Amino acid sequence: MEPAETRRPADGPRSNLWLESRYRKLVRGLPQTIFYCPKCKGDRRRRKGCPQCEGFGKLTKESVQELIGRRILPRMQAKTGKFHGAGREDIDVLMLGRGRPFVYEVIGARNPLIDLEELRRDIEARAEGAIELDPFVRVGRERVVYWKNTHFDKIYRVDVAADGAIDPARAAAAAQFAGTIVQRTPQRVAHRRADLDRERSLAVLGLAVTDGGVELRVRCQHGTYVKEWISGDEGRTTPSLSDLLGVPCTCRQLDVAEILTDEVPTTATLSVDSEPRS
Ligand SMILES: [Zn+2]
Repeated sequence: MEPAETRRPADGPRSNLWLESRYRKLVRGLPQTIFYCPKCKGDRRRRKGCPQCEGFGKLTKESVQELIGRRILPRMQAKTGKFHGAGREDIDVLMLGRGRPFVYEVIGARNPLIDLEELRRDIEARAEGAIELDPFVRVGRERVVYWKNTHFDKIYRVDVAADGAIDPARAAAAAQFAGTIVQRTPQRVAHRRADLDRERSLAVLGLAVTDGGVELRVRCQHGTYVKEWISGDEGRTTPSLSDLLGVPCTCRQLDVAEILTDEVPTTATLSVDSEPRS
């Protein structure tokens, strides 16, 4: 049964609007935006018979963008929507803490004045636990620019696999590490980014030795390549966690525990155990 508002005669003027919120992503395998098939690009005609996506046009059924847009667009009788995230996490990375800010741009809405809190609850209910949202706030277009151009430190929770036994003294020293690291452009992105050395500040907030590795929380300056800091990327990041622990390390699982925007209290940076362990 469709809400009454979507049955209104669709002949009113169209307007654009911007809704700001934050999302928490609580499942892995969910991309932030529509994951178009790289072979056919989701094109209506080209995707027919596409061997990579079998005509689906996308490589995942859902994305944060679609979970939100699918509920907003019909209710607002809008043509289409655009998702503007303040950065993005990888598809297999959870987005925890206060969540990641975003602005959802609604284009060509005939019915823009809907109840945003009811909308938010509906999105969360239909997402079945995959995402949670902060209350929507109507904002101006300049908020898209703000989130695109402003960079924030982040706290990550990392599950690390170590290839060898970890010396307790070295683990204790690594748990205290706070300083500058030098990262040469990682090998995995060197084909599309300039190959140069960058200095980044990084602080380990907590570290526990686990079965076969360590689990840690680390605060990183924006633009830090965390996986490469863990492995060392064959000597291209120094000092790496592998250097600090004296054994080769690789990232087993990574979550964004917090994005340190102005709204997030700085005490969050000091707490090493405010996230429930999964
Ligand atoms: Zn395809």
